[in-house]
Amino acid sequence: MRLSHITRIAAVAAALVLTATACGEQAELGSPGASAPPVAEATFEAGTTMAKLNEAGALRVGTKFDQPLFGLKGLDGNPVGFDVEIAKIIAAKLGIPADGITYTETPSKIREDVIANSQVDVVVATYTINDARKERVSFAGPYYVAGQDLMVATDNTTITGPDTLKAANARVCSVSGSTPAKTIEQYVDPANIVLFDVYSKCADALRNGQVDAVTTDNVILLGLIDSSQAAFKLVGAPFTEEPYGIGITKGDVAFCEFVNTTLTEAVADGTYAAAWTATAGKVQPEVPELPAAGTCS
Ligand code: GLU
Repeated sequence: MRLSHITRIAAVAAALVLTATACGEQAELGSPGASAPPVAEATFEAGTTMAKLNEAGALRVGTKFDQPLFGLKGLDGNPVGFDVEIAKIIAAKLGIPADGITYTETPSKIREDVIANSQVDVVVATYTINDARKERVSFAGPYYVAGQDLMVATDNTTITGPDTLKAANARVCSVSGSTPAKTIEQYVDPANIVLFDVYSKCADALRNGQVDAVTTDNVILLGLIDSSQAAFKLVGAPFTEEPYGIGITKGDVAFCEFVNTTLTEAVADGTYAAAWTATAGKVQPEVPELPAAGTCS
C-alpha cells in the first residue's frame, strides 16, 4: 500500500510537470498544477494528525466554491484560488499530492460544524480567526489579513463607506455566519440587511438591483468585481481587520504548529508568493507579507 502510494505521488508529480510546461493555457485556468509545490518525502511522529494524514495519502479540505481568486469551482470540478493553493502547500508538506485532496464546499455558516464533525481535516475558506469561533475550532495562521469593505454598482456615487449606508437607506447583502454580516449591524437597520448562504448570490442581487451594496472582505469583493464585467466597484474604505486562519480540530496543537511552520517555510521557498501570484495576485499584484503566527491552543 505504501509502495502504491509513492508510485501515485511520482505519477502525479510527472503529470504536474507536464501540465506546467506543456499546457500553459490550462495552468492559467487554475488547473491543479498552477503553482503546486513539490511533494515532500515526510515522516511524522506516530499518532499525530500529520502521521495519520500522511499514511492515508489524503487530505479533506473545506473551502469556498463561489469566490473568484480564493476558492472558485473550476471546469474540472475542483476549486481554484489562493485558499486552494494554501491547502495544496499544506498537503505537499504532509507528503500528499494535489490529487490526494478532496474538496468540500463550506459556506461561511457551516465551517465550525464540518470541523467539529470531522467531515474535513482543514478549512481554508477566507476564514477569520476570532474568539467566538475558537470555542469550537482551533486556527493555524493567519496566512493573510483582509479588511471588510463594500461593493456597489459602478455608477453608485452615494455609498462611500459604512457611515453613508443609513442616509442612503441602502439594502446591504452579506452571508449568514460571516463576520461582516455581524459587523454591518452597527451601520444598517436590520430590515435593510439581506443574508444569503454564499456571496455569489449577493452579487446576483446587486446586479438585479435587489440590493444596493454587498459587504464582506475586500479581497472577496475584488474577485467578484473582477468577474463582473465592470458592473461593480469597490468602495475602498476597509473598516475591519480579518485575519484568515486555517481551521482545524479544536486543541490539535501539534497540527497547528506544523501548519504554522509550513507557512513560514512556504515563504522561504517561494511557494507562498507563487500561490498568491497565480491567484489573488491577478488583482493585487503585491505579494502580502505573511502575518506573525498566532498562538496554537
Ligand atoms: N472573513 C469573513 C468570515 O470569516 C468573511 C468571509 C467569509 O464569510 O468567508 O466570516
